[in-house]
Amino acid sequence: MSFTNGYHGQSLGAIAASGNRFYRKASSIPLSGTTFMPYDGYLGSADSPADYVRKVLMDESSGIDLPAAILVETVQGEGGINVAGKEWLQSIQALAKEVGAIFIVDDIQMGCGRTGEFFSFEFAALSPDIVVMSKSLSGYGLPLSMLLIKEAIDAWKPGEHTGTFRGNNLALVSGKAALTLYWRNKTFSQQVQRLGEFMRRRLDAIAHQHGNRFGVRGRGMVCGFDCKTTEIAEATAHKAFEKGLIIERCGPTDQVVKFLPALTIDQETLGQGLDIFEESLTEALNSARGS
Ligand SMILES: *Cc1c(COP(=O)(O)O)cnc(C)c1O
Repeated sequence: MSFTNGYHGQSLGAIAASGNRFYRKASSIPLSGTTFMPYDGYLGSADSPADYVRKVLMDESSGIDLPAAILVETVQGEGGINVAGKEWLQSIQALAKEVGAIFIVDDIQMGCGRTGEFFSFEFAALSPDIVVMSKSLSGYGLPLSMLLIKEAIDAWKPGEHTGTFRGNNLALVSGKAALTLYWRNKTFSQQVQRLGEFMRRRLDAIAHQHGNRFGVRGRGMVCGFDCKTTEIAEATAHKAFEKGLIIERCGPTDQVVKFLPALTIDQETLGQGLDIFEESLTEALNSARGS
């Protein structure tokens, strides 16, 4: 079981658990084995979507089979920076336990300090059976990924699931150095929280200047600026590129500009990036108005 707007990668099992049609289509074969449930906030109603998940799992006749595992991101990175609340995450974990499903947190994008603490689920005191990590894990942009699996469910024998480039030596060395350098005490984590708040305040102010017709979402040092339309987000990212800032987009129609700066960035450089974004957005809106 995975969730609307989830993104888990492009190998066959991972893409089958990802929502985006653009990527799903690229698999070229039917994708199966996954049931999609509404992510926190997806239905946008007062009804908590975790209640819906509970209802279909508890109903013997809902037509939804009990899952072997439930796979979730605490903040959906590719899906549009959708932030799940503590209570929702806790209910999903509790449901997994109740139905005997393995609870997996995909912390590839939001882990390794992105949301402030090392794991993105610490704020909700979750205890996943499996944690998936990669991206910032090597601390140096080198290929490194890892699964943390609770011993009781670790059925693989050593070397049973293998590949040529697993355990890249240099990435293991830099990953270890990043862990010891940045995660020995709370200093780095606090810096990430502080820069995250700085970024959030600036983006909220920019949204406010435009009459709050844009949405700002995020947690720690990840923010999404929801331009509401693909055109505005695309034009803004292009203008930013011309000014020397590479910024990605995400969300179902790439309508969200995604702020995912290096966690080691200094406030001045981050401020410059935000200035460029602000100018680019203004220019994009002006040319949209002119055309
Ligand atoms: C990038 C990403 C992946 C995919 O990782 P690959 O190494 O490309 O397979 C999976 N899950 C999340 C949340 C990601 O952001």
